[in-house]
Amino acid sequence: MRILLVEDDPMIGDAIQRALSDASYAADWVKNGLTGLAALDTQHYDLVLLDLGLPGKDGLEILTSIRAGGNPVPLLIITARDSLDDRLRGLDGGADDYLLKPFDMAELLARMRAVLRRKGGSALPLLGNGVVSLDLLSKEASTEEHSGIALSSREFALLQALLIRPGAILSRSELEDRLYGWGNEVESNAIEFLIHALRRKLGSHVIKNVRGMGWMVSKNV
Ligand code: CA
Repeated sequence: MRILLVEDDPMIGDAIQRALSDASYAADWVKNGLTGLAALDTQHYDLVLLDLGLPGKDGLEILTSIRAGGNPVPLLIITARDSLDDRLRGLDGGADDYLLKPFDMAELLARMRAVLRRKGGSALPLLGNGVVSLDLLSKEASTEEHSGIALSSREFALLQALLIRPGAILSRSELEDRLYGWGNEVESNAIEFLIHALRRKLGSHVIKNVRGMGWMVSKNV
């Protein structure tokens, strides 16, 4: 999953980016809102973390621009502003949740999972299609034959990208977009390598190759 982090504080931004990367997210970090808006125009993101006190355009204005443009991307505000008025304006302006600084990284990650689940229409920290399921907390996969299959962080991210929309075909470049942030070097056969590793762990039938187009997991059965 690819996350856009809009945060001007270098220490907080760095800490969040590291926590996101440790949790297998691909994270792009921008330090002002206008760069954030430009990034959202050109790149698919699964979730936005938005600070409110930003140089240039304020976070609440950025939020308004995102929603006015019809972009429904899940969005979590992270800010030191604790006035009720700011909180209400953020939530009424289309934020999905609101987290006050300072916060624990474990709480941030839990809130992100909750927002992503709500947007995905599921109350459980679990993705699945009836053939394979993925526990978003333990990061283990289960098939009919085996449960508790440990995955590497990239394997987890790839299977998660496919299981968010069972039946949808994702091309190599779409998968690369979801797995690697800016500045991550992508080896030319990295996606094929991960698919191969996942098939060895889960069984070759779990991820289907659609010739010339990409890969998918079958629709819910
Ligand atoms: Ca700030």
